[in-house]
Amino acid sequence: TFNSSKCNSNKNTMQTITVDLASSSEQRSYPIYIGSGILERAELILPHLPQKRVAIVSNTTVAPLYMEKLRIALENHGVTCVPIILPDGEEYKDWETLNKIFDALLKHHCERNTTILALGGGVVGDLTGFAAATYLRGVPFIQIPTTLLAQVDSSVGGKTGINHPLGKNMIGAFYQPRMVMADSVTLNTLSDRELRAGIAEIIKYGLIRDPVFFDWLEQNMMRLLARDPAILNEAIRRSCENKAQIVATDERESGVRALLNLGHTFGHAIENGMGYGVWLHGEAVAAGIVLAAELSRRMKLISETDVVRIRKIFSQAGLPIHAPKLTPENYLQLMTLDKKVDAGRTRFILLNRIGEAVMRADVPRAVLFETLSDCAT
Ligand code: NAD
Ligand code: MG
Repeated sequence: TFNSSKCNSNKNTMQTITVDLASSSEQRSYPIYIGSGILERAELILPHLPQKRVAIVSNTTVAPLYMEKLRIALENHGVTCVPIILPDGEEYKDWETLNKIFDALLKHHCERNTTILALGGGVVGDLTGFAAATYLRGVPFIQIPTTLLAQVDSSVGGKTGINHPLGKNMIGAFYQPRMVMADSVTLNTLSDRELRAGIAEIIKYGLIRDPVFFDWLEQNMMRLLARDPAILNEAIRRSCENKAQIVATDERESGVRALLNLGHTFGHAIENGMGYGVWLHGEAVAAGIVLAAELSRRMKLISETDVVRIRKIFSQAGLPIHAPKLTPENYLQLMTLDKKVDAGRTRFILLNRIGEAVMRADVPRAVLFETLSDCAT
């Protein structure tokens, strides 16, 4: 189950989405607060702290921008803060950096009731969540995402973890936060390129299950790119609602949650094939979704008209719609590295139409090959 509400506070308009994981034995519903300028509203965080003590994990880019604001707000409410500042970059999402978090938590005698706050993008969120899942066998955890991607995707749903030299996100745990706080004002310092990468995942929600949201995005893309606060908040809210509904139905990805991987099998191949960091994840997902749409059309699912709209919205968003020129053999080889490979068969998320995705394990090799040689070479 799931619900969403708007509430007007004296200071800011804020929206609350409740992620309700009622299917599990433990009671683990939690709120996502979305609004402009809510970072300083420590009173939202306070009820979720079992002890007036937190550790705030951030990185060298985000901490100078937002750590003080958050720390002062919390300290004004009598909360003691231990700051933990990590180096910035996907390459630090590893055991060594995780261990630095444990070092700091132990050194400062953080206890079972000390809450760990993740202040940053998806890298900080994933690392911190995994640290919270495993430190003292699990301590309370709060997500304060500061990239668009983290606000609409990685902070919601409870996947946490780190990379292994042999594969991305290969070590981790499902661990749900006590709350998520998405302040869209923090996005004003984000680069245009990172903003667009987040928009790719937003468009994805429209494509897999929310055609009305897709229409709305077509109409409001320019205002979204211009960071119009009302449009940003609405895009974040609709994205979180969609992700929360999927996660509430299928927390551990045994079914519908896999639809969130639309474009990701191709996307991961692109990221891998180009060398990590050359394409941002959202850029690879955009080109990957266009490939998935082309494959869907060749499987006689989606219409040509819909494929045209898909290309158009991604190019409007300034995202790549052409997959890089790797050979089809190269793509096939890179795609077998993907986690969704089940007993040697690659399962694809395809589109029946805009707003409806489907998982298929019956894509003939010839059709896949044809799509790749037509569209990616
Ligand atoms: P990121 O965390 O690396 O952030 C991108 C860059 O923006 C970094 O340099 C960061 O320091 C900087 N930054 C963050 N907030 C900023 C701000 N407000 N102003 C200026 N700069 C800011 O990347 P990301 O795109 O946020 O997250 C990617 C990570 O998320 C990947 O590791 C991916 O595996 C993970 N992820 C996890 C899930 C999940 O379900 N857990 C889902 C999607 C992605
Ligand atoms: Mg993704």
